[in-house]
Amino acid sequence: MFNRRKFLKASALSAGLIAIDKSSMADALQASTKKAASFPIVISTWDFGIAANADAWKVLSKGGKALDAVEQGVWVPEADENNQSVGYGGLPDRDGKVTLDACIMDENGNCGAVLALEHIKHPISVARKVMEKTPHVMLAGDGALQFALEQGFKKENLLTPSSEAAWKEWLKTAKYEPVINIENKLYDKAAPQKLPGNQYNHDTIGMLAIDAKGNISGACTTSGMAYKLHGRIGDSPIIGAGLYVDNEVGGATSTGVGEEVVRNVGSFLVVELMRQGYAPEAACKEAVMRIIKKKPETAKNIQVGFLAINKKGEYGAYAIQQGFSYAVCNAEKQDLLIKGKSYY
Ligand code: ASP
Repeated sequence: MFNRRKFLKASALSAGLIAIDKSSMADALQASTKKAASFPIVISTWDFGIAANADAWKVLSKGGKALDAVEQGVWVPEADENNQSVGYGGLPDRDGKVTLDACIMDENGNCGAVLALEHIKHPISVARKVMEKTPHVMLAGDGALQFALEQGFKKENLLTPSSEAAWKEWLKTAKYEPVINIENKLYDKAAPQKLPGNQYNHDTIGMLAIDAKGNISGACTTSGMAYKLHGRIGDSPIIGAGLYVDNEVGGATSTGVGEEVVRNVGSFLVVELMRQGYAPEAACKEAVMRIIKKKPETAKNIQVGFLAINKKGEYGAYAIQQGFSYAVCNAEKQDLLIKGKSYY
């Protein structure tokens, strides 16, 4: 059951209104089950994070930068045509257009994002160029595409035959209904399920890495909610919502129904809670509780998951619904998949 007393204490604490309550802080600290991991380390959302982490690890294990690791790590799902929720092969919006959202953030607080970018296979790399080559943080739509082309990115058709077929199937009813934890059905090799086209409709890769120098960076990339209104932007490219990194504290990222994450500035909230002493899992849980508290009826039927890492390399996650998973990779274990805890 949702504990209102603890929620109020923690909210007041985060607002700096009362002195730290020892008992709720102890609860928060204990809620992390993950012991400190050594650097370097990379963590990312969902089962497809395993393959993404493996490529990030190639950078980290050679002493490379966390920023390069997260960019190269998320290239894997971005290029995977079987992954229908990220990059190439992503499900389109209701008009049949594949529009991609991505952002990246480094250890110096630099960040870049692209919103509703079409025709470019690796939006994360365009986001990085926005960060490094412009005075801006975000570029959207046609402007983002124009910038990408100027930077030498290739214009491609991202709508694969299977995503197009799924969209056409969806058009028959044109019902917008996000399905909870859809990636489990897509990626469960032991029990693959064929769902009607209107049901493959969300999930994002959010990745956080700490390199050998202890610097933290993060990346988040998605094709967003399938069959969304053309021009809809979720949490994933919004710094503070889908991703946030503070090199003094840690980083956080999110997945799920982005509107609820944006409303609560989710990833920033998680990092700020860690700054106040919350362990990663406890901070993620508190962010989830904000969503549930504000919209209990909505929350029953949607998924939102947060994933976080602190400066010590401790990590944790928490989701509204069961089924959220995340992948961890460090010197001890390269392909660890962890079942995230959840409210329901
Ligand atoms: N957060 C993404 C969005 O709202 C989708 C997801 O992660 O499932 O666009």
